[in-house]
Order: sequence, then C-alpha cells, then structure tokens
Amino acid sequence: MTKDQKRVIMVTGGSGLVGKGIETYAKSLNRPNDSWVFLRSSDGDLKDKEATRTIFKKYNPTHVIHLAARVGGLFSNMKYKVEFFRENIAINDNVLECCREFNIVKCVSCLSTCIFPDKTTYPIDETMVHNGPPHPSNEGYAYAKRMIDVLNRAYNEEYGCKFTSVIPTNIYGPHDNYHLHDSHVIPGLIHKTYLAMKNNQDLTIMGSGKPLRQFIYSLDLAKLFVWALDNYEELSPIILSVGEEDEISIADVAHLIAEAMDFKGKLIFDTSKADGQFKKTASNHKLKSLYPDLTFIPIKDAIKESCKWFIENYDTCRK
Ligand code: NAP
Ligand code: GDP
Repeated sequence: MTKDQKRVIMVTGGSGLVGKGIETYAKSLNRPNDSWVFLRSSDGDLKDKEATRTIFKKYNPTHVIHLAARVGGLFSNMKYKVEFFRENIAINDNVLECCREFNIVKCVSCLSTCIFPDKTTYPIDETMVHNGPPHPSNEGYAYAKRMIDVLNRAYNEEYGCKFTSVIPTNIYGPHDNYHLHDSHVIPGLIHKTYLAMKNNQDLTIMGSGKPLRQFIYSLDLAKLFVWALDNYEELSPIILSVGEEDEISIADVAHLIAEAMDFKGKLIFDTSKADGQFKKTASNHKLKSLYPDLTFIPIKDAIKESCKWFIENYDTCRK
C-alpha cells in the first residue's frame, strides 16, 4: 500500500484502556486517508468465530490493531487461569484467522511483558519470549499471548500474511478498569485511595511494595502503536517501554498516587498477599534504535491525569 491509499483501521478492544488512548491519538492525527473503527464487545463476541467473521464483513478493514483480550491484574490472573487461557486463545485464533481470510494488509497484535520467562537474565529483550516458563501466577494469560507470536510466524510462512506484535509493559491511564480486586495495580490503588479518603481510613497495599515495574501511560503507548502500524516491518515482536532506569517500585507508585490525590492517611503493606513476579525489566533498545526521538510523559504527571480522570468519571467508569 502506498501512503495515499485509503486505509480502514479496525481496532479490536477499542473501548478499553489502550483502545481509548489510540482513539484520542488517532483523532489528533486527522489523516484524511485513514478511517478508524473502534470495536467494543457489544459489537460482537470475538470468542465466537461467526460473530468475528460478521464484524470483518461489516467493516471490511484493510488493517487491524488487535487489542481485545481478557485482561486483569495479578490477583485476577491467579484466580481465573482457565478463563484467561481459553478466552484469549479463542479471541486470538478467530481474529488472526479472519485477518487471513479477509486479506488484511497488516495486523499488529498486543502481547505483554508478563509473558516473558520468570527465570531469566535482565534486561529482557524481544528474543527471549519463548525461553522458559512464565511466572506461575499468570501462566494462563502468558501462554495464550505467546501463541500469537507462534501464529504470526506460521501465517507468514504458510500464507504470506504480515502479522506482527508489540510488547508493552504495565499500562495505565484514562478509561482503565478500576475494579477493586481484578484490576491492575495503578487503577486498583487509585480506587482504593479514593475510598480510603472518603471513609477516612488508611490505604492497604497488597504485598510488600518491593516488586519493580516499568509503567507506560496509555497516551504514550498510543503513539507507539500507530508508529508500529505505519513503520514496524518485522514479524517478530518489539517491546514498547520506558527505559530500564524508569523502573519503579510498587511502594513508590502508591506514594505517587497518594500525593496526586492529596491522601494524608497511612500506607500499610499487607505482606500476606502475593507480590507476583519480582521484576520483569525490559529493554527498549530495539525501539530506541528505530524511533530515536522517544519521549514519555513523566509518571508523576500521568498518574495525576489518571487520578483526575477517575474522579471526574467515577459514576460511569469500569469499577
Ligand atoms: P481493557 O481495558 O480491559 O480492554 C479490553 C478490551 O477488549 C475492551 O475493549 C473489551 O470490550 C474487549 N474485549 C474483551 N473480551 C472481548 C470479547 N470476548 N469480544 C470482544 N471484545 C472483547 O484492556 P487493555 O488494558 O486496554 O488491554 C489491551 C491490550 O493490551 C490487551 O491485549 C492486553 O493483553 C494488553 N496489555 C495490557 C496491559 C495493561 O497493563 N493493561 C499491559 C500489557 C499488555 P468491552 O469493554 O466492550 O468489554
Ligand atoms: P503484574 O505486573 O502483572 O504483576 O500486574 P499488577 O498491575 O497486578 O501489579 C501487581 C503488583 O502490584 C504486585 O506486586 C502486587 O502485590 C502489587 N499490588 C499492590 N496493590 C495492588 C492492587 O490493589 N491490585 C493489584 N493488581 N496489584 C497490587
């Protein structure tokens, strides 16, 4: 496809945290040759092959950004391993097979740094996806996601399809899932801090607070996703992450949230709860070599924005 050809870019999971970030960024680009379709689950259940086909027939996309997945934090992953595996395998199988059937020019799917081996050397890079078992806490999700990379290679070898994938680290931002038990750590702690303030209580954080994570703001990630769709030509995945030096502990994240919300109570660490993987430090070396002007919104500012969004949208957001 040349630069002036019209593209219909369909985003599965377009109503979620990452999808909404991409929608905001895509609007700001205002490109006349691109039309965007942002799917939500009420458009059709992607676990169902016929429903998936119906969606592809209806929108006739040329390009697909595949985000739709069963997604959750550590505690949800530990509790629902069967569902994380089966639902994600079904969604990915249906979406990628329809991308083949409907001759999609390019599909970019979303993996996660959770899928890397637990026992590894650091920093982790893109060549290590299949080097050993993932952390046991999320093996349902991790193995289902790893199979996308296997399918991307197989579809290319057998059918010449151009399917690739990106590997973001932990993501946060507006439109996140703020559920108290099933969400990721940042939205979970934003919601808990809000309730602690409302009820004049201390804030309880699960685990020791010592694990380390690299967090990426959904609006920074959106820019990188669109860059990958436009410019990333390899089949093998690329890590989309802040630098190794930006890794931060869960305790420090909790302090940033408390500061952003002006929470004055105590922070208590419940060490009877799981810590999950201690760290999964990822290298963004490959990304930097292809995208030299890489910059990120500072986490302190982006956490402030995420807290503000949650408070302003408290009545309607997912929680
Ligand atoms: P999210 O906010 O939970 O959004 C999930 C999206 O998938 C929603 O649009 C949801 O639709 C859709 N969906 C779920 N099941 C579906 C089904 N059976 N049929 C159709 N649509 C379905 O998740 P997210 O955080 O944006 O995640 C997007 C991608 O990033 C996922 O592939 C995830 O694995 C990956 N990722 C996330 C993180 C993170 O920290 N959040 C980190 C690394 C990678 P409805 O809202 O309409 O239900
Ligand atoms: P992970 O990176 O896949 O492990 O995803 P999470 O976003 O679920 O982060 C998990 C880390 O945050 C673990 O060390 C948890 O012990 C810690 N944590 C602290 N409080 C919470 C919380 O309220 N929800 C979640 N999901 N994790 C929490």
